[in-house]
Amino acid sequence: VAVTQISRFRVSNCYLVEEDDGLTLVDTSFRGSAATIRRAAAQLGAPITRVVLTHAHHDHAGSLADLRARLPDAEFSWSAREATLLAGHHEPEPGEPRGRLRGSLYERSGVVADRLLEDGDRVGSLVAVAAPGHTPGHLALFDDRDGTLVAGDAFLTIGGLFVTTEFRWRFPFPALSGTWHAETALRSARRLCSLEPALLATGHGPLLRDPARPMREAVARAETSRRWG
Ligand SMILES: [Zn+2]
Repeated sequence: VAVTQISRFRVSNCYLVEEDDGLTLVDTSFRGSAATIRRAAAQLGAPITRVVLTHAHHDHAGSLADLRARLPDAEFSWSAREATLLAGHHEPEPGEPRGRLRGSLYERSGVVADRLLEDGDRVGSLVAVAAPGHTPGHLALFDDRDGTLVAGDAFLTIGGLFVTTEFRWRFPFPALSGTWHAETALRSARRLCSLEPALLATGHGPLLRDPARPMREAVARAETSRRWG
């Protein structure tokens, strides 16, 4: 497997994905995580050549400015929609469902992406998969070499496997999480199931091997709980 999980305080994860030309970092965890991340990269013996964000919440983007300063040669990318959140703009976009932005956003750091990602774009070996719902521009990253899905907060693996919509009542740090639009999140979760991943890497919780079936079950459960209350 080409993915290494870096867990901060056993709460929030980011990932290093091995590439021929170095490492791709998916998410940056809380503020103050840059040294831990760079140490993990050094242990893998390769430079961080790309940094990609799943979404703009603080527990995923918090060390962005520090890493930008320390990794001047790396390419930084995230979705265009999350770029508006990172810039501090909260207005809905035309045609977007009405959601409420929840969770603590990492804003106005001044860090600008080198590349804005659309669904289907490639970041090294990872394919950007638009997975809105938790936030409006949330991305998942799929490694089609080995079927690893870095799902961000579309799914969670704390105490079982959950779609974020279902998990919000149990989330240990509600201020950091919460879902912008539940129906959209469920649609995205269903789409991620269809990738039939071999390994699921979430923003919170351990890696999960052969997740396709439990992912489908989690989506079905979340759909039922929405329908009945
Ligand atoms: Zn989040």
